[in-house]
Amino acid sequence: MAGESDKVEKNDILKRDIRYLKGVGPKKQGLFRRIGVRTVSDLLFLVPRRYEDRTKITPIKDVVPGKFATVQGTITLRGKRRLYGKDGFGIIVDDGTGWIEVVFFVKNMQKLFPIGAKIIISGKVEFDKYYHKSIFVHPDYSIIGKNIDDVIAGMVIPVYPQTEGLDSRFIRRLVYDLLKQDIKFTDYVPEVIRKRENLLSIQEAVKKMHFPDSVEEGEKARKAIAFYELFQFFWKLNLKRENIGKARPFKEKGRLSSEFIRRLPFKLTKGQQRVIEEIDKDLVRSVPMQRLLQGDVGSGKTVIAIYSMLRAVENGMQAALMAPTETLADQIFLVLLNFVSGLPLRLGLLKGSTKASERRGILKDLENGDIDILVGTHALLTENVDFHKLGLVVIDEQHKFGVLQRYDLWKKGDEFTPHLLLMTATPIPRSLALTLYGNLELSLLTEKPAGRGKIETVVKLERNRDKIYSWVFRRVEKGEKAYIVVPLIEGSDFSKERGIKDLYSMYEYLLKMKSDNVRIGLLHGRMKTEEKRRVMEGFRDGEFNVLLSTTVIEVGIDVKDATLMVIEHADRFGLAQLHQLRGRVGRGEKKSFCILVMSDKVSEEGRERLRALKKYNSGFDLAEIDLKMRGPGEFLGTKQHGFGGFRVFHFYKDQDIIEKVRRYVGLLKDGKIPLRENEREKLMSLKEKIEEEFYVA
Ligand code: ADP
Ligand code: MG
Repeated sequence: MAGESDKVEKNDILKRDIRYLKGVGPKKQGLFRRIGVRTVSDLLFLVPRRYEDRTKITPIKDVVPGKFATVQGTITLRGKRRLYGKDGFGIIVDDGTGWIEVVFFVKNMQKLFPIGAKIIISGKVEFDKYYHKSIFVHPDYSIIGKNIDDVIAGMVIPVYPQTEGLDSRFIRRLVYDLLKQDIKFTDYVPEVIRKRENLLSIQEAVKKMHFPDSVEEGEKARKAIAFYELFQFFWKLNLKRENIGKARPFKEKGRLSSEFIRRLPFKLTKGQQRVIEEIDKDLVRSVPMQRLLQGDVGSGKTVIAIYSMLRAVENGMQAALMAPTETLADQIFLVLLNFVSGLPLRLGLLKGSTKASERRGILKDLENGDIDILVGTHALLTENVDFHKLGLVVIDEQHKFGVLQRYDLWKKGDEFTPHLLLMTATPIPRSLALTLYGNLELSLLTEKPAGRGKIETVVKLERNRDKIYSWVFRRVEKGEKAYIVVPLIEGSDFSKERGIKDLYSMYEYLLKMKSDNVRIGLLHGRMKTEEKRRVMEGFRDGEFNVLLSTTVIEVGIDVKDATLMVIEHADRFGLAQLHQLRGRVGRGEKKSFCILVMSDKVSEEGRERLRALKKYNSGFDLAEIDLKMRGPGEFLGTKQHGFGGFRVFHFYKDQDIIEKVRRYVGLLKDGKIPLRENEREKLMSLKEKIEEEFYVA
């Protein structure tokens, strides 16, 4: 029994919040979140950005300023030292070929460096201009025999993605201590495959990914974990896909859908026509449609969604559309009402916030077939939502839902499977979509409807803020409308310390800057839906000509004469999100501007991202760039949304194993790989664990 509870406890460690670790308080917890680490398990699967090889010892006479070096010698001198205007202490290390000074700024540490002790120092060699010599400033070190810090020098050590206030050294320490605890991970790759591929065990791989004996071994370990991860993803996907069943074939185009197209106030673009043809071909088949429609923001996907749903209705079936937020569901519902007014349709809107009595009514009508089209949020996935005869499902902004989750709405059909149309404004590079979504057919909307003005993107430093807003307000006074986006509603002490503007401090600032003709409306996610709608309508109708908002405007707002977009702290947003936000302007004929305001201390990476945005207007180009820069998780925002939950697998680096893993999963499915009984059970158990984390039994 002792062993049993021991095991439970060890697995619990993985799920624990990072705060449970020594030295991690609320502040560090927040910083860890920024690099995607919430739990102990996240930390252990955090991939080092690179390694530093500190196994090679450089003779002190050969160290070069500007380069990393590891030296080993004896402490011969120790004393107070002032450097760069800061007080600290210095030691002299001598290795027989020469000596070098090492300066630390931490107080009360001197006695840790006894004269005569042997020490290893690793770090970047700097140049002391005053004394004209090489010097180490606050390097990593370990004192031989003393074991004060055994992680630090003379090893191949991991360098992690870091963020201000959270350095690699600290992360390394945490990981090192955790690995000493011998935590158990579960993997699902059958032994036959593991042997054939010569994979390290998951246990070994986690250790070696962080602390390999050589840089190559570190990469090999990472790749093994990527294999485990991808295997689990494909296997789960395969379990979900089993028996996709048959769909009821639709008849050729009917009255309702034709009438809808005829009544549209505009002509369909060529792209829209093409996609509609593609969809029509799918719908008449008894194989359920599985189509992903990718179209940049504003390319006109909604019309296609409505058309497809009407195709179901005219065939005597129901259709459902699921959107990721209530605002978006509301928005689509309104558009739908507007477009189909006059057509004989019964519509329903179901959200988490729908009142219980109203909800009961909707569910009853739905079951009886008295609702033709149901629009909603995640609420549609609830168990007691039953359709009478569901013929088609649309999922908007599908990447905001888990890859596996979307199957849950799809399964709401009866003995027949509904046709499925997935839509996204966040383009997924074709190669990625094909690999990861397997059977999905792809449709692309590349052109925007005619008569759209250009958007010029400008990148500015924060210190120009006053100038930026006087420019914006001058234009607003002449009749333009502006969005101003901030990252937070209310700042914390932490963000205030860093001068990050939240909604309220920005509002105060803007009030001081503006003239009487500038009327600012406020919008944020904590407002009630009704309030939000009022403010958005106020902006559309001109009651306000500036809309100061959090990112709630990211999707769904469509104000044709808004031509200015300012995004504060743009370097804190991901590329996809910035692109989405930018898509709020440029909807009318006039030229628009998108001004990205970045911190005066912007990181090189942040700057690069904003430059890409300035250069490229198409979401497809941006997606490719982001994929190259950081792997698929970032652009798709899937770290949080279960894009297979990949933490280690990297689409570019691991392309070589995708096909291989897929093939193995196929063979397994067909029973062509011999399994031990416990392996079979383990694999089948993943059916229940479908939304669970990797490696956590
Ligand atoms: P998205 O692809 O981002 O969902 P929408 O479907 O919301 O884009 O379309 C954006 C705007 O373009 C809407 O106001 C819509 O009515 C309009 N629109 C769609 N198709 C056309 C078209 N063929 N010609 C002109 N305007 C169109
Ligand atoms: Mg849309």
